Amino acid sequence: MSELVVIDLHATVAGTPILKGVTLTVRSGEVHALMGRNGSGKSTLSNVLMGRPGYEVTAGSATLDDVDLLALPTWERARAGLFLAAQYPTEVPGVQVTDVLEAAFTASGRDPALVPGRMAEEADAIGFDRAFLRRAVNVDLSGGERKRNETLQLAVLEPRIAVLDELDSGLDVDALRAVARRIELATSGPQPLGVLAITHYSRLLQELHPDVVHVFGDGRILESGGPELVDRLEAEGYASRA
Ligand code: ADP
Ligand code: MG
Repeated sequence: MSELVVIDLHATVAGTPILKGVTLTVRSGEVHALMGRNGSGKSTLSNVLMGRPGYEVTAGSATLDDVDLLALPTWERARAGLFLAAQYPTEVPGVQVTDVLEAAFTASGRDPALVPGRMAEEADAIGFDRAFLRRAVNVDLSGGERKRNETLQLAVLEPRIAVLDELDSGLDVDALRAVARRIELATSGPQPLGVLAITHYSRLLQELHPDVVHVFGDGRILESGGPELVDRLEAEGYASRA
């Protein structure tokens, strides 16, 4: 069993405080939904957890199975078992997804020769044309194709904890269902994935069933509850909160 433990996390972007005390624990097999209005700092949280440059942590901690994530470069956070599907996946010209996944397998002591076969299986499972697998990472992919590409990477890498930042944006209904089901599947089984799904919409959460729903606002979690909170937010919006 794994757990991501975030305690009183504060961070600034370009000198401006954005995260103002985030506290959260995500365990293996759990799905947490993080919902909140635009600009409240949700992507900042995901970027800070993964160690994207440009964010300064000013207080608090983030650990994955007692490993201090904040002390590690991004690739070592990934090796520790953390995965981020970014809201805006970056283009990496000249590098194929296969290269990235083979390097990750090698870094974690797995056989890189398994990668191409696993990628083909996972592409088929989410209806992603295998031809895309030979493209440079995210180059000339549509928004929805990038999201499926991220899901494929997640499925092949089998991280312990995944942060999914608006994975649903740009996906049509069928792709959304395929992607959500694949992730839901990863949350069960012998080494279940723990998920922090950042989303505006309840659509994703109809397939990927959250155990806990958090309302995020003004750089922290304002309220947490069960799945019923999704319907309340849908009806009431965030206006009455932050
Ligand atoms: P959300 O994902 O909840 O919509 P973000 O975390 O993307 O919110 O943004 C939170 C705030 O931080 C916004 O006011 C945004 O303009 C600001 N911000 C985020 N990233 C940067 C950055 N790299 N440089 C300057 N401001 C940023
Ligand atoms: Mg965002």
